[in-house]
Amino acid sequence: MKSAIFYNPDPIIPVEEIEFLPPQKGEVLVKLSAAGVCHSDHHFMTGHFIPTRAPFVMGHEGAGIISEIGQDVKGVKPGDKVILSMDSMCGKCMNCILGKPTMCLTYPRTFAMPDGSTRFRKGKQEIYHMVGTFSEYTVVPEDQVILVPDNTPLDKACIIGCAVITGVGAVINRAKVKVGETTAVFGCGGVGLNVIQGCNLAGAKQIIAIDNFDSKLKSACEMGATHTINPTKENVIEKIMDITSGGVDYAFEVVGSTKLIELAFSAIKRGGSTIIVGVPPVKSKISIDAMDLLVDKALIGSFHGNANPKFDFLWMLDLYHSGKLKLDQLITGYRPLHEINHAFDDLLNGKAIRTILTFD
Ligand SMILES: [Zn+2]
Ligand SMILES: [Zn+2]
Repeated sequence: MKSAIFYNPDPIIPVEEIEFLPPQKGEVLVKLSAAGVCHSDHHFMTGHFIPTRAPFVMGHEGAGIISEIGQDVKGVKPGDKVILSMDSMCGKCMNCILGKPTMCLTYPRTFAMPDGSTRFRKGKQEIYHMVGTFSEYTVVPEDQVILVPDNTPLDKACIIGCAVITGVGAVINRAKVKVGETTAVFGCGGVGLNVIQGCNLAGAKQIIAIDNFDSKLKSACEMGATHTINPTKENVIEKIMDITSGGVDYAFEVVGSTKLIELAFSAIKRGGSTIIVGVPPVKSKISIDAMDLLVDKALIGSFHGNANPKFDFLWMLDLYHSGKLKLDQLITGYRPLHEINHAFDDLLNGKAIRTILTFD
């Protein structure tokens, strides 16, 4: 089978022929139908984000069909449609019991199966994988697949696995934005547009979109933004203070820039919160005035939308079918797996919101 493999930080990712082992106890083999290309994938290529193991099969957003199941798999069978999830949840640790599977204490994401092994090989070389969606097939623990109805369009639903849950989940599950509150969203890529979509679903009164690309600000308005700011043309903080009369209730940083986190923090009012959604560079530090924390300003992280995938992915699909959650508008193109480097180009030059990789 063909897979996109990361070896070292490099602007070009090779697509190579590798082999997979059959799924073992509690595991499933998934034939990928579609996989979304996320900016977080590109972070590995620049060294912004360093994997704990390499080489590894890239990709963390995708959907497909169960091809084979290992011993003791009860929840899915061959032929079932599934959306893949990054969260491998044990279901038994205190965080899983408390409904926080993204923070599972037993199975942190390690670019390997929960036992530290891998099911992919290139000759004798072990190839690691987290979700491994940039691949014709992937093997994951059963708890990383979410069974979806047969009428689910996988080429659209695949983006629920990262872009949608990370963005909408940050608003609904983490910030818990309430009707009539005010929000600002720094960065309007695939995840940022879903933060905007989440703020819209929550009934935020003002949703201020901030991005250097006018084309992305246009998309932001289509997803529900009420105001836009292009920092290359306007002073962001002055304009936010003007629109909101003193700062927003919630500022979301969706780029992964330490400077932008600090800027977002300065955009909130007393009692407001800044939510970090983007992936910051490894070992980076931020500087904020500690006194601001005393006046109830909060700085909080949100990983993978604080998802409970087996619940959240399904209500998101229902909202899509009823027209309340937008997926089609977020997909700007389809490319076969071997064009993965073109898909990254589309992302970097601002042309793409989400490019979906397809498989034969
Ligand atoms: Zn992602
Ligand atoms: Zn757990």
